[in-house]
Amino acid sequence: MQPFTYNANPARILFGAGRLSELGAELQRLGAKRALIITTPQQRATGAALMAQLGELAGAVFDGATMHTPTDVTAVALAALQAQRCDALVAIGGGSTIGLAKALALRTGLPQIAIPTTYAGSEVTPILGETADGVKKTQRSSSLLPQVVIYDVDQTLSLPSAMSASSGLNAMAHAVEALYARDANPIISLMAEEGIAALARSLPVVVKQPGNAGARSDAQYGAWLCGTCLGAVGMALHHKLCHVLGGSFDLPHAETHAIVLPHAIAYNAAVAPEPMARLGRALGGTKAPWTHMHAMLGSLGLPTALRDIGMPEHGLQRALDLVLSDSYWNPRPMEAEPLRQLLRHAYEGAAPT
Ligand code: NAD
Repeated sequence: MQPFTYNANPARILFGAGRLSELGAELQRLGAKRALIITTPQQRATGAALMAQLGELAGAVFDGATMHTPTDVTAVALAALQAQRCDALVAIGGGSTIGLAKALALRTGLPQIAIPTTYAGSEVTPILGETADGVKKTQRSSSLLPQVVIYDVDQTLSLPSAMSASSGLNAMAHAVEALYARDANPIISLMAEEGIAALARSLPVVVKQPGNAGARSDAQYGAWLCGTCLGAVGMALHHKLCHVLGGSFDLPHAETHAIVLPHAIAYNAAVAPEPMARLGRALGGTKAPWTHMHAMLGSLGLPTALRDIGMPEHGLQRALDLVLSDSYWNPRPMEAEPLRQLLRHAYEGAAPT
């Protein structure tokens, strides 16, 4: 066994169908009397239903959460929180909604309960990406971590098939990079392998039968494990590429992750044989993991080319420059020519090499 350092983030997880009914008791356990419920405009009705469920324990709904946690939206939410004298935060939604609750917790120290309705994984990470003046900056702090996470499968049944697939691959990307992280360790690698396997077997069913609660529950279990990996160890090339592509070209977050992932795996494969063996085991089948992953995009009905989700061809050079100007640690050095080729292949939807 190689030497390793293992850091665990504290977590209280309520997992299972119907567990949302325990939200009030969880708020009381935290000593809260008046929660602010946070949603996107699209999930406003879900926020209203929670308000009715909580009765006096709910102060107000803020339904203005949006992608990339812009600080001006956080300022408006903070004013609403103070005007309503709320003393706890309840986020119900995907990574965007949970990001806003984290931004508010950072500014107020209030406790948070997260109810994820996608597979992005933010609810179990001490990470926040905030955008100000068009620049997205990421920070890590234990004060960002929600005190309680409720994984209630019923809240995911409405997530459309395409979003379920891309969000599931976003989760897988966290676990893939955890397998070859600089600070990889045996416990997180176990979670990564299990998380990838759970998503690999459940996503095809979820896409065909979005109302299949068993497959949804499996996917949520995988997403929790993969998110835990993201919260525990450092990420590498794949996350750097997606940060640049999403942040500088405003590409949709989850689809960008899904398209880039097979290419990032192929780039690192030769220098990471043991992580590749684990990944191959988790995915099942006989193909190389990057080929398997690329084929999976097609079978889940996802786009395979960055040009099909809004990437401009003239932006490829700028993306490369940005990746190289402030590169993350990666098991294989980040080099201009092979990365230029990687970006070209991802842009065109070519098979990863
Ligand atoms: P999202 O939160 O932006 O949600 C996308 C859309 O789907 C929204 O309109 C939302 O209201 C809707 N939606 C969510 N769940 C639904 C459901 N069950 N039924 C119907 N509609 C639903 O998307 P996301 O991919 O979950 O999150 C992306 C954001 O999260 C990005 O900004 C990303 O940077 C961030 N993120 C952060 C971390 C972290 O650790 N800090 C991790 C992963 C993602």
